[in-house]
Amino acid sequence: MIPQLTIRLYGDPVLRKKAASVASVGPGERILIKSLLATMYEHKGVGLAAPQVGISQQIFVADSGDGPLAIINPKILKKSGSGKMEEGCLSIPGVHVNVRRPKDIIVQYIDENNRRVERSMTELLARVFLHEYDHLHGKLIVDYATLAEKALLRKKLSEIKKLSK
Ligand SMILES: [Zn+2]
Repeated sequence: MIPQLTIRLYGDPVLRKKAASVASVGPGERILIKSLLATMYEHKGVGLAAPQVGISQQIFVADSGDGPLAIINPKILKKSGSGKMEEGCLSIPGVHVNVRRPKDIIVQYIDENNRRVERSMTELLARVFLHEYDHLHGKLIVDYATLAEKALLRKKLSEIKKLSK
């Protein structure tokens, strides 16, 4: 049985913290990765970062349609292009924001077997990677909203904040 994790909601301070880097991936981290994936699939998400379940470590999982990925200590080496797309977030249910992000990235990270990976990503995978990478740095999609969008979201966000208490 893989334990299901509780997703922290907007307003929880852990979502604004900068996550600590991981020294190496051991049994504890592998259980966390499995639990993150199970929780992500359960909620029909395409990515989930450890801070979203209250663990402030540089770990996230993603599956943009090509199978599960575990990403630890990610770095962005290069970014190019730019595109806007509407994004949601499991920590901010019901809220969608148009987010402009680079289209193509070259990234470096450690995988679940402590292997150092360097690869390029594009389209949806690049977007998911950048969204989850933001989570590790305390950044959320609402930070990309324009002032007008923020005004429209204010009520919804304060409702979610109440739930997070
Ligand atoms: Zn998110």
